[in-house]
Amino acid sequence: DKVDGSIWLKFDIAPTANPVSATDRAAKLENLGFGRVFTEHMAIVHYNQAQGWHGAKVESRANFPLDPATAVLHYAQEIFEGLKAYKRDDGGINLFRPDANARRFKNSADRMAMAPIPEAVFIEAVEQVVRIDRDWIPGGEGSLYLRPFMIASEIFLGVKPSAEYIFAVIASPVGSYFKRGPAPVSIWVSENYTRAAVGGTGAVKCGGNYAASLRAQAEAIDHGCDQVVFLDALERRYIEELGGMNVFFVFDDGSLSTPPLGTILPGITRDSIIALAREAGTEVREEPYTLAQWRTDAASGKLKEAFACGTAAVISPIGKVCSAHGDFVINGGEAGPVAMGLRKQLVDIQYGRAPDTHGWIRNV
Ligand code: PMP
Repeated sequence: DKVDGSIWLKFDIAPTANPVSATDRAAKLENLGFGRVFTEHMAIVHYNQAQGWHGAKVESRANFPLDPATAVLHYAQEIFEGLKAYKRDDGGINLFRPDANARRFKNSADRMAMAPIPEAVFIEAVEQVVRIDRDWIPGGEGSLYLRPFMIASEIFLGVKPSAEYIFAVIASPVGSYFKRGPAPVSIWVSENYTRAAVGGTGAVKCGGNYAASLRAQAEAIDHGCDQVVFLDALERRYIEELGGMNVFFVFDDGSLSTPPLGTILPGITRDSIIALAREAGTEVREEPYTLAQWRTDAASGKLKEAFACGTAAVISPIGKVCSAHGDFVINGGEAGPVAMGLRKQLVDIQYGRAPDTHGWIRNV
């Protein structure tokens, strides 16, 4: 069952011997925040140089036994993804653009000098977990957050690409991101810390990027803000992205703009919004935008709305921007119609309430 692109990897399926009762599961699904409740199973695939990807299994979720000298614990050779499965009104299950996550995962592996996992194996592992834990997908506006990840598992303290890897998929039921409809977020502009430099790892989803962002996010919280927004590392003028979301600007002529790809994470929500807006005849520019211009445009009324986007919250309006050089409000601090309209369009596709004209949905 070795994989080399064309050969299929068969997953050995071993359901848990001690399933959680329906009553206990219902209780756990009652009070969902983000990322603290987990399903019962995981998918796991191993890699070494002699066997390639092998030993694919779906089994009871369990601890990883790791030697203290396991490479990932020292040099952070680790990547991950995040995507969701949605329960449709007819009881079916939709995955949103898992092929895009598989492709991004492969790019992340390449940047981090890790063994590339075939995209078909990534998608199969995700689907297997969704299938075996389908009873854990919350109804209503909830969803099942899937977390594929890969770690360097060779036991070696030399600094070099690991010769062994573990790929796994775990799943966490999540509730509606906003309890009372999308609430505008306030964001803090980090002028002390940057996220990504040209030639660095900003465009891929490696754990280290997030470790490095935590100090800046803590600074945002200290200043009473919800999220941090980063500037470019070179000039510290251009808006890049939030700690875990991309950003869009909406102008009075109806056009949208968003920072160009390069040092930012190529968000799948960002890509989907660009596609939807352009189909509706909206001009979307992928171009650099400075903090100074943002402030000026917000004051003059040229800027109508700003919003952040990502898998977790889909679209969050940005109501207020705070920095060491003063604060400014956008759209009176309220959610705007463009952000809310795009949000509804996207959510309707994800839950199967609108036709999937893009081939974005994969039924499980
Ligand atoms: N930027 C960063 C840094 C992120 O972590 C995420 C979440 N994956 C995003 C943007 C949004 O990406 P996506 O729309 O694919 O969730």
